[in-house]
Amino acid sequence: MEEIKYIVGKYYPKKGGYYHICPVCGEDFFGRENKVYCNDKCRYHTNNLIAKSGRCYTKKENNILKTNSLVLKSLYPISKGIKPIDISKLGRTNFDGAGPFRLEKDPITGKDIHWHHSYGIKYTEKNSEIIILKKDENN
Ligand SMILES: [Zn+2]
Repeated sequence: MEEIKYIVGKYYPKKGGYYHICPVCGEDFFGRENKVYCNDKCRYHTNNLIAKSGRCYTKKENNILKTNSLVLKSLYPISKGIKPIDISKLGRTNFDGAGPFRLEKDPITGKDIHWHHSYGIKYTEKNSEIIILKKDENN
């Protein structure tokens, strides 16, 4: 029996469809012109990967991040990116210090800045004081 080479995207009437190669499992198959995956399993596999790649935090972490960001938003009018406030102010809120943040270094002081969405905590020379930053004014 001779080996038949099919061309991807070409219609083969005897096979009743267009020739495809599944990008997930590599299986070849015949089907509708716009078909991409050989079966639903491969299709869902890809959809799940896309959903995962856009999510860097778990749902729980995201909720903490959201809460922390809201706490900082409420404290921002006191600090306004310049005025140091006592770190104990954070302790009286439902701010979760173990939650996720994006770390940056202050280019001038070299101190850590922890970003929680659009709001950041800048640590000062005095460890008991912090400055609340808002993203727009920093960029
Ligand atoms: Zn497949």
